[in-house]
Amino acid sequence: MSVFVDDFMAELTAKNPAEPEFHQAVLEVAESLEAVLDKNPKYREAKVLERIAEPERVIMFRVPWVDDKGEIQLNKGYRVEMNSAIGPYKGGLRFHPSVYLGLLKFLAFEQVFKNSLTTLPMGGGKGGSNFDPKGKSDREVMAFCQSFMTELSRHIGDRTDIPAGDIGVGGREIGFMFGQYKRIRNEFVGVLTGKGIEYGGSLIRPEATGYGAVYFAAEMLTTRSETLEGKTCLVSGSGNVAQYATEKILDLGGKPVTLSDSSGYIYDEAGIDREKLAFVLELKNVKRGRINEYADKYPSAVFTPRDDSKDYNPLWDHKAECAFPCATQNEINAKDAQNLVDNGVYLVSEGANMPTVPEGVNLFVDKKLLYGPGKAANAGGVATSGLEQSQNSLRLSWTREEVDARLHGIMKSIHKQCVDAAAAYGVEGNYVAGANIAGFLKVANAMMAQGVV
Ligand code: NAP
Repeated sequence: MSVFVDDFMAELTAKNPAEPEFHQAVLEVAESLEAVLDKNPKYREAKVLERIAEPERVIMFRVPWVDDKGEIQLNKGYRVEMNSAIGPYKGGLRFHPSVYLGLLKFLAFEQVFKNSLTTLPMGGGKGGSNFDPKGKSDREVMAFCQSFMTELSRHIGDRTDIPAGDIGVGGREIGFMFGQYKRIRNEFVGVLTGKGIEYGGSLIRPEATGYGAVYFAAEMLTTRSETLEGKTCLVSGSGNVAQYATEKILDLGGKPVTLSDSSGYIYDEAGIDREKLAFVLELKNVKRGRINEYADKYPSAVFTPRDDSKDYNPLWDHKAECAFPCATQNEINAKDAQNLVDNGVYLVSEGANMPTVPEGVNLFVDKKLLYGPGKAANAGGVATSGLEQSQNSLRLSWTREEVDARLHGIMKSIHKQCVDAAAAYGVEGNYVAGANIAGFLKVANAMMAQGVV
């Protein structure tokens, strides 16, 4: 680490103790930006990086609700409004037991750079709760969502802060929260994205993050005059992002062979085809079942239960060319990264946010993999949320083809920005540096123009 990065991180860590994911996300960016700050001392003098790493506002609140037994339950609610230099705060809500302030600060920080890369006018934010929707009845989920939105509605608005979904927050949860916002505020506005198609949602929004990660992969492959046709792909997760990444891999001729959830993973040597994927969508989105049921149904698949005593995840230890981590942060540890490289994987496109630990990121960059970091590769979701906002403002709905074409165009543009920024700073082919630099410059220039605010 350089003296600058060392000093910057020492201060950040002291001011934000016990938030390891936040420190990890900021460190990666600080390392990438050192050359930019050296070349442009005005950013250093204006303390732009220091300000970007400090949320503009953090809202924390109590979320009381009543379960099906009539007992009162309590959760914590949060919204981190990180940066509004280029547009209103925008970013998802996560409902998962692991949620705490530091996790949301990492996600909100990443979101600032990601949103900047989309070319759309969106600032960065993130929120959520330590509520676990798994195993809850629909009525319990509704009671929680209504209580959560009762407080959150005071702080958000279609020109202020526009949340969306993330882990544990899909169409059902967005619907309940939208209904409560409308009821409290008595206004029908596009204050959330990921809405149902009947009440202001956009076609392709559910597919967008997964599709986008695969479009980004295809763009990376074109730099080597290759396509996804015939390539074996490892996919983790089986939620929203994983489902539609798998669909787009199939569209582009690839062969997905794995999916997972927090209980383990399935490896289907014969490939996950469209019929099997339809089974997964029904299993996860309607029945809310577990991934081992895939192996019960399809004998070509093997289910391996999660084993936390192992120091690696066997999902990443299969022969393949491409990997699409689409579950959660730090799901690829240093050994997993080495296993991927040893097994012939030379493309990693991150559907999830920060799924690779720093040692893994360094290995991928050193080995010159086609490595698309989450803030670039998974930006298709928030970009299409931006398109949903545009349609809400216009009071129009675009066709599937139109939204998909715009999404595809945005992913190509993000890819080009990463390539160009990396080349401009002498680190050709390094998408991590490219994404951080390109994402930073737009926000930094807007902050400089707006003065010390
Ligand atoms: P989701 O629909 O809730 O699915 C999450 C998947 O990951 C589930 O299969 C879940 O398994 C698994 N998972 C979650 N936490 C895990 C853990 N600690 N260990 C093992 N498996 C875990 O969420 P999603 O929207 O697909 O989001 C997945 C990732 O993409 C997240 O990193 C998210 O931040 C990122 N992302 C999402 C969007 C979006 O538009 N949705 C946009 C950009 C980035 P269980 O069901 O067993 O928990």
